[in-house]
Amino acid sequence: MKQSQMLIPTLKENPADAEIMSHQLLVRAGYIRQLASGIYSFLPIGRRVLSKVEAIVREEMEKIGAHEMLMPALEPSELWKETGRWTTFGSELMRINDRHGREFALGATHEEVITSMVRNEVKSYKQLPLSVYQIQTKFRDEARPRFGLLRGREFLMKDAYSFNESYESLDRTYEQMFEAYSNVFKRCGLNFRAVIADSGAMGGKDTHEFMVLSEVGEDVIAYSDTSRYAANIEMAPVKRTYTKSDETPLEMEKVHTPDQKTMRDVADFLGHELQKGLKSILFKVDEKFVMTITRGDHEVNDVKLKNLYDAELIDLASEAEAREVIGAGFGSLGPVDVSEDVEVVADLAVEALVNVSCGANEEGYHFTNVTPGKDFQVSQYADLRFIEEGDPSPDGEGKIQFARGIEVGHVFKLGEFYSERMKATFLNDQGKATTMIMGSYGIGVSRTLAAIVEQYHDERGITWPANIAPYQVHLLSLNPKKEDQKELADVLYNTLIEAGVEVLYDDRKERAGVKFADSDLFGVPLRITVGKRASEGVVEVKERMSGNQYDLEQEEVLNYVT
Ligand code: ATP
Ligand code: MG
Ligand code: MG
Ligand code: MG
Repeated sequence: MKQSQMLIPTLKENPADAEIMSHQLLVRAGYIRQLASGIYSFLPIGRRVLSKVEAIVREEMEKIGAHEMLMPALEPSELWKETGRWTTFGSELMRINDRHGREFALGATHEEVITSMVRNEVKSYKQLPLSVYQIQTKFRDEARPRFGLLRGREFLMKDAYSFNESYESLDRTYEQMFEAYSNVFKRCGLNFRAVIADSGAMGGKDTHEFMVLSEVGEDVIAYSDTSRYAANIEMAPVKRTYTKSDETPLEMEKVHTPDQKTMRDVADFLGHELQKGLKSILFKVDEKFVMTITRGDHEVNDVKLKNLYDAELIDLASEAEAREVIGAGFGSLGPVDVSEDVEVVADLAVEALVNVSCGANEEGYHFTNVTPGKDFQVSQYADLRFIEEGDPSPDGEGKIQFARGIEVGHVFKLGEFYSERMKATFLNDQGKATTMIMGSYGIGVSRTLAAIVEQYHDERGITWPANIAPYQVHLLSLNPKKEDQKELADVLYNTLIEAGVEVLYDDRKERAGVKFADSDLFGVPLRITVGKRASEGVVEVKERMSGNQYDLEQEEVLNYVT
């Protein structure tokens, strides 16, 4: 590919809104451009790296017998109403009407679509188990699109779905998917952990998220320094159960481990209590009161709204002080409209709890004009101690460490949630109609690309692992006006192309400094520079990642590269 003919607009300055390295570098190096908030175009070299990730995903899926298909992005609302998700998915689901007023969702995920297809087309146990996948643009109206490709409103996802005749069979498919995911992320060169995740409203049994370790990750994971134990911190055990202020122990279902509660349990409890009309809850962590959720009226954009909740993170020495703060109606996360949705309160609570347990709110708040205890009552408080770094791992091996993670993949045993509601049944070997057992498995393809850049860059640009790089070789003709340089570069270009090497050839009439800087920014693994020594048939080779540099005779180049 000749660079003079390609659209690779590089920038010297960082885009104003780009806070993290992957966002900055992918824009600056001409891989992506933003069209609107959370919506990006992939330019030619961006398309190439995306294709590399896709190819790895396809190979690993086909290896375990999942086959590719392509489903529509427009999904009729009727299907989403069958499962109830037309309501529960909330405002993240983008909705449109056709000219007849029929409602559609822009595909945020495809459980409903695939289940409607399989219930029509699969009738017998002989056709099971069945796994299919697609790589397709997804739409989610994220509340906070940010960080470039990491949280888009339109993004590329690989989503796979499995249909099994029994839970045992689902277990086997799940294990294969788990392996395939591990392979995908290994081949992408990523440092990641598979963590126990929250099955939330789907009510499934097992679920794991694949987390790329990164400071910019929005999730926090707790993992053992010596064993394989790793959990999203919302699933890490809470050490002490909590009590009402009158000391009556609260009855809660056990989800994660027999004798320990998880933050998700606590959050679900909170969500329900708040819906029942509870005004506020105080959490007491190691003798400090750290959080409240308060119900009340709030003004949002000059509009008075009723029944909103403020979640507050406070770090205070005494209950009295906490009461004052609640009275001040100060909110760090709210207000959030949760009048009809328990899930949202629960999520809010989890976010707050996670922040608290990770010390995200250490600076504290200052108040004036406080009217203690005015519009609130402290109904109960929880006495909790969260898992901490250095604690023994719940599996008994090693000590707990915290890390931030980017969720790049998610595997999920769905069970019968969708198949039951949508009546997807098959005839078992006794001829009896039986509900299918399902799983779903997602990889954020475009997010994975950004996660790779988070782990592979230096101060000059991207340092792609070879498997993902848009090209293997970046060939620079330093001064194409010089006949001997142009000639040698042309010869090398043709030789490499003929040998099937992916080469980007910088044949532009630009200054050497510009070419070197762009080359470092793009991050192609190997740079071959044809410069002053062209007349002797000598070129310079430089490895982008290590910085190692050699002179080579022109005859040695092909051997060196292949
Ligand atoms: P998150 O917790 O980051 O919002 P999610 O749990 O909502 O993600 P899933 O429904 O599990 O996402 O979707 C499967 C995968 O799709 C995720 O693991 C992630 O890699 C990717 N993904 C989800 N939302 C986005 C987004 N807004 N932008 C880019 N990738 C995304
Ligand atoms: Mg999400
Ligand atoms: Mg998630
Ligand atoms: Mg997820």
